[in-house]
Amino acid sequence: MLILHCPYCGVDAEESELAPGGEAHLKRFGPGSSDEDFEAYMFARKNPKGVHFERWRHAYGCGKWFLAARCTATLEVFGTYKAQNPRPHPDIVAAVKAKRPGWEGWK
Ligand SMILES: [Zn+2]
Repeated sequence: MLILHCPYCGVDAEESELAPGGEAHLKRFGPGSSDEDFEAYMFARKNPKGVHFERWRHAYGCGKWFLAARCTATLEVFGTYKAQNPRPHPDIVAAVKAKRPGWEGWK
């Protein structure tokens, strides 16, 4: 079972307490953007087998959104952090690189 640490309330929440929110760190495009940028924002998502950065909501806890770095193949969690961060915390990037030496990095 997937267990994620909520960085707001400090609870280690089981998957049944969480709601998935898709890929993290999307660059948003709205009115005035090109059709290609808007289409990519609306529909194009990464779906890697391996390290992935995701949005999760502690739905049956504090209700807040947070971000998680985990491996989609093994469910190994590298860390979680608050949703206001525009990029993964350096400690989480370091944790991923330590466990996945061939990882090409974030973005
Ligand atoms: Zn929480």
